[in-house]
Amino acid sequence: MGTALRERRDEEAVRLFLQIQGKTESPPELEMLAHLKKTYGLESAKQLMHAFACFGCFYCKQGRETCPQCEGRGMREENIVCEGCIGMGLSRCGFCNGTGWIALGCIPAGFQVEVLLLRTKIAMERCKEILNKKMIRPTAKNPTHCFQTYAQHLLELDGIMGVFEETLVNAKSLVKSDHHLGDYISKVVCQGVKVAADCEKRRQKMVQWIIQSNRFAVDAKNMNPEEQDLARARVEFYEDLAHREKFVDTSLEHPFLNQAFQKFIGKN
Ligand SMILES: [Zn+2]
Ligand SMILES: [Zn+2]
Repeated sequence: MGTALRERRDEEAVRLFLQIQGKTESPPELEMLAHLKKTYGLESAKQLMHAFACFGCFYCKQGRETCPQCEGRGMREENIVCEGCIGMGLSRCGFCNGTGWIALGCIPAGFQVEVLLLRTKIAMERCKEILNKKMIRPTAKNPTHCFQTYAQHLLELDGIMGVFEETLVNAKSLVKSDHHLGDYISKVVCQGVKVAADCEKRRQKMVQWIIQSNRFAVDAKNMNPEEQDLARARVEFYEDLAHREKFVDTSLEHPFLNQAFQKFIGKN
């Protein structure tokens, strides 16, 4: 495992670690991290935590799977947008909550606090990047491209929000196993929820821009009547979605975050 870490083969290091575990006289799970630092050094231990944190989910590709309700078409019938995936054709993976990373429960207990904190940190940095990304407002010139860009951005934000939701949901039990980190974890949870609220704001903006780009498509001269009908159906669908509470009853809803927005920042 040491060689794999040195050679930056992170995924392999995780697999090797899991193979070693249980075979040799391993220390108890909760003492594993301390043991790792002592045996392989601090840097290698940190690298292994990072490898665990970013280990890909076994069941999906980057947090998404084909929507079972529309089989990936985004439409249930002709000109009826699929409610489940809000017309994206992709729904959130239930195993990783859309994060694209293996569920926390699959990670050795002794690493979970570290991994959770690390994931939140990675998500914060990623979020800064995503929210700072320059988005071009909807234009009449290329409405289809605009729509696709906003839809992709929406899904990207959803994945990041999944990380903050995982932190929120798991924090309580992890604080129990690691009392001295309690205040710190609570602070991290709070920061995560605040950033998630910014993501939610951006998602709402994307819905507005999706509506506008489809309005442009309805009026576009170079679109055929079928494409215009589809755009019209989308305008209607997303207008309705914009009036509803934060993606409720769709696969883009984050129920725990929605509750937390109210509790942590008084927003609903
Ligand atoms: Zn669908
Ligand atoms: Zn997954």
